[in-house]
Amino acid sequence: MPIKSVEDLNSILKRIDGRGYKAYKDIKGQYKFEKFELYIEHVQPDPYASPSKVRARVKQKIAGFPSSLFKNRIRKIAFEDYLARTFYWNIKQISKGHRGSGKSGFINILPCSQQILERTSISINEDAVEARFTMGLPAKGRRILSKEASEMFFKEIPYIIESSLFYKSLKSEELNNHIEVAEDAEYIREHLKEKNLVAFVANDSCLPRASGVDDRPLRKERAILFKSPPSLEVSFHPPHKKEIKGMGIPEGITLIAGGGYHGKSTLLNALAVGCYNHIPEDGREFVVSSPDTVKIRAEDGRFVENTDIFPFIHNLPSGEDTHFFSTLNASGSTSQASNIIEALEVGAKVLLIDEDTSATNFMIRDGRMQELVAKEKEPITPLIDKIRLLYKDLKVSTILVMGGSGDYFDVADTVILMDTYKPVDVSERAKSISKSYKLHRSFEGGNKFGIIEHRIPLPESFRPYRGRGDKVKIKSRGISEIYFGYEKIDLSSVEQLVEEGQTRGIGELIYYAATEIFDGKITLKEALELIEKRLRGNLPDSMFPFSSGEYAIPRKYEIAAAINRLNTLRCKDKHRFGSLDPVR
Ligand code: ADP
Ligand code: MG
Repeated sequence: MPIKSVEDLNSILKRIDGRGYKAYKDIKGQYKFEKFELYIEHVQPDPYASPSKVRARVKQKIAGFPSSLFKNRIRKIAFEDYLARTFYWNIKQISKGHRGSGKSGFINILPCSQQILERTSISINEDAVEARFTMGLPAKGRRILSKEASEMFFKEIPYIIESSLFYKSLKSEELNNHIEVAEDAEYIREHLKEKNLVAFVANDSCLPRASGVDDRPLRKERAILFKSPPSLEVSFHPPHKKEIKGMGIPEGITLIAGGGYHGKSTLLNALAVGCYNHIPEDGREFVVSSPDTVKIRAEDGRFVENTDIFPFIHNLPSGEDTHFFSTLNASGSTSQASNIIEALEVGAKVLLIDEDTSATNFMIRDGRMQELVAKEKEPITPLIDKIRLLYKDLKVSTILVMGGSGDYFDVADTVILMDTYKPVDVSERAKSISKSYKLHRSFEGGNKFGIIEHRIPLPESFRPYRGRGDKVKIKSRGISEIYFGYEKIDLSSVEQLVEEGQTRGIGELIYYAATEIFDGKITLKEALELIEKRLRGNLPDSMFPFSSGEYAIPRKYEIAAAINRLNTLRCKDKHRFGSLDPVR
């Protein structure tokens, strides 16, 4: 398509003024503005439909960003994140917003959470910086309002772009700090292993959030800032700070104990999102966990497909072979077991478990209960009997919030007591208590954790079509629902999803995997590693249906979680290849 000029856009708008909304189709195309190029990619069919998709591209000659700002992957992601937030903020300042019917007048860009994520809304390279956003083209009823549209195109958009995508308009100190905080956090993440740690919580971190529905930090005067117990204190020397000190959580089994309401879950939740970097002033900038940290919970009612939960569950009264466990309606314990096995299958190295969201019979089985209910009559091998084997055989660490049972003292390496939001290292005391009060329970876990089987998703599992003519229909609603063809995927128990853009991205990536990767031979783990590799290799655009700014890049664990919750999923088992009839 030929490049048109600003005057061309102006004259088209003049020509279609007052006409029916469909005439807006004429403005689709590419326009050369004085300082940038504007691509009107998709024009909405009416004022109430999803808004029109627009892209603005500023050449580096004009934008003027030094390439040091994006010289490595982490800096680039943090830099783009900063621009996305600036763009969003400037829309709020500059755009007049509502101007007529439906979405008329609104300009939007993908909103950002407290986490620094890779998103498709902003992209930068040596050549140019590009922002992708949406515009509600204005109308009164369904009649085009050209004057209002001109205001948006010729006043608001250039102003937003100049104040967001030009280096000289930005607060360079704030921008540098944004990038450096992310780079320092990443440095800590990369150096956890050499210190035999799985997580780190910096001193002076602010862990509590403003409220259950507001992820910003609790006000400074009400929050007690984190302070490491001396025995667990470690220090890091990241590139932009002399030293960051805080609590190191060692590999192995860590218990977070303490009375109710003393801050246990708050600490665990901070660790759960510690797989992501955070913006400055979040309070969790230097709460860092391994990238392979997965939060596990019970999720009764969930669908499970052919998962080998034998390590935790066997001898079901139904006689079902739990090497191939499938259900449309898992119980608390079988769902929690499935969640663990599925996380291990795709590479989880650290599990986070909170008693608040666990099935009691999955966590403990005490001596008295062992006396009453014989092992042969109890299908569940509780986590307490597997948690050490998980570490010994698979090198998978667990961090467990447990205020209700001291039985776990026997299996813990580290015990942290939360006392009025302050952590105390009570590992020695817990060990001596465990010595002086011997448990009258017997160990039921065997001497091996068990084998993690690799499943092969069958291509026919994925049916993204809906309605007449087999149209591909994939949609997300909020952060926790994906509609994939006729199926709804419920992600409300997948706690490490932090942005709607991730959920939307997952829907499209499942489709990508279904059309490009799953072939009845590749395992789920291999497929996800391939997706991850391609996402990293500057290919994201080709993996999403069109160059849209609406996606945030998800982790492989959340993609796996969504695939595992797709009701139509059918899997073969790699090692028992051929022995299993996939059609049930
Ligand atoms: P627990 O899991 O031990 O029962 P929570 O982590 O749910 O406790 O915390 C209980 C309450 O205390 C929550 O409202 C939380 O926001 C608040 N809280 C947690 N940590 C702090 C802190 N460091 N300073 C102030 N309030 C906190
Ligand atoms: Mg709690």
